[in-house]
Amino acid sequence: MSSPASPAVDAAASEAVLKPDHSAHRRHFIFTEEHDRLRESIGNFVTKELAPHAERWEEETFEDWVFPRMGELGFLGLSYPEEYGGQGGDYYANLILAEEMPKSNSGGLAMGIAVHTDMATPPVHLFGTEKQKQDYLVPSIKGEKISCLGITEPDAGSDVSAIKTRAVRDGAEWVINGSKTYITNGLRADYIVLVTKTDPDAGYDGFTLFLVDMDLPGVIREKKLEKLGMHASDTALLAFQDVRVPADAVLGEEGKGFYHIMWELQVERLIGAAGCVAGAQRCFDRTLQYAKERHAFGRSIGHFQVIRHKFAEMATKIESARQLVYTTAWRHQNGEYPVREISMAKLYASRIAVEVADDCIQVHGGAGYMREYGVERVWRDMRLNRIGAGTDEIMLDVIGRSYGL
Ligand SMILES: Cc1cc2nc3c(=O)[nH]c(=O)nc-3n(C[C@H](O)[C@H](O)[C@H](O)COP(=O)(O)OP(=O)(O)OC[C@H]3O[C@@H](n4cnc5c(N)ncnc54)[C@H](O)[C@@H]3O)c2cc1C
Repeated sequence: MSSPASPAVDAAASEAVLKPDHSAHRRHFIFTEEHDRLRESIGNFVTKELAPHAERWEEETFEDWVFPRMGELGFLGLSYPEEYGGQGGDYYANLILAEEMPKSNSGGLAMGIAVHTDMATPPVHLFGTEKQKQDYLVPSIKGEKISCLGITEPDAGSDVSAIKTRAVRDGAEWVINGSKTYITNGLRADYIVLVTKTDPDAGYDGFTLFLVDMDLPGVIREKKLEKLGMHASDTALLAFQDVRVPADAVLGEEGKGFYHIMWELQVERLIGAAGCVAGAQRCFDRTLQYAKERHAFGRSIGHFQVIRHKFAEMATKIESARQLVYTTAWRHQNGEYPVREISMAKLYASRIAVEVADDCIQVHGGAGYMREYGVERVWRDMRLNRIGAGTDEIMLDVIGRSYGL
């Protein structure tokens, strides 16, 4: 056996082996050829059918037809069992969807879809009865029903245990009163996965999830909220006034809603982290191109060492975040419940995405501040991820507490 240093190795071959090949495509070990094909097919769809509408959707929010179209292509149920109309894939398939959606150039669209595929429907799949799966999961996978998730309230966000929305048993029904805010898809949704308090004296055992149809009497879509970024998505303030639902609207176990929703948040955070890495990478790629084409003082700006080092810093951050997301996804796929690592991935990926977008604006100079270049939008859209699905501070707290502090 000869080592690369052995004189037996021919000099030309050795040179070929040792030359860095920066443009080589290496598939990460969690992905297979089948994943590559899925990635290509989602990427083509997003680029051809969604990206052309991104500018208009920024003004008007994206249109509902996206759901049935994606359902038709099988993209809304990538990892759900075939018996419910899903594709029967693994968790990495969802990761790929999250990574390809930024090709739409619309963070708001990516978020609206992710809320449906990776936030509201996973609890229906995991905790739902067979009837609930037939009534909600199957049409959601087809894109015929749009979902949303209601945790946050005007007086309680980070502290989920402080929510006030109450569900009270009344014979064969439950009566729900309360309000939810910042609800993505809240204006368009057909149903909501609603977190309520059913026993205020039972601590963490006093919460229950419900599946609530949004056309029931007493469900009020109070207001479309205006926001900094993610303009293509709709964000709603909702009210529930004496909303009556049948006993079988309880999702999962009565009294276990807090634990159910903490599980849901893990899936949501990891997918969010994957989206952040992909969004940052896309912004980086576009900016790299710009830095090669834009000239100042007789050379392309990318050849100034200061700018070159900015790219080196950005690339290193993106790659570190990507590895953290992939390794954590591997653990999740292999049956672990890696809450600490998910929190780290969510914290780090959302932070670096904002940092990268900010540096990309800087590299663009004045153009970076202009809407037509799209980088300021990435910064505005990405900024949400340090807040939504658990703030930086909450992620730090989860990580710190996991060490017994
Ligand atoms: C565009 C958008 C879309 C959203 N979509 C949804 C959705 O679809 N469904 C849904 O349910 N929610 C949604 N949210 C809500 C989001 O998850 C919450 O905004 C988030 O969890 C923070 O809650 P809060 O806004 O009430 O902030 P607060 O909890 O009031 O926090 C305010 C500040 O205090 C800090 N803080 C709070 N507690 C602590 C602590 N213990 N230690 C240190 N610092 C602390 C926070 O980190 C933050 O900086 C969305 C939010 C936005 C902006």
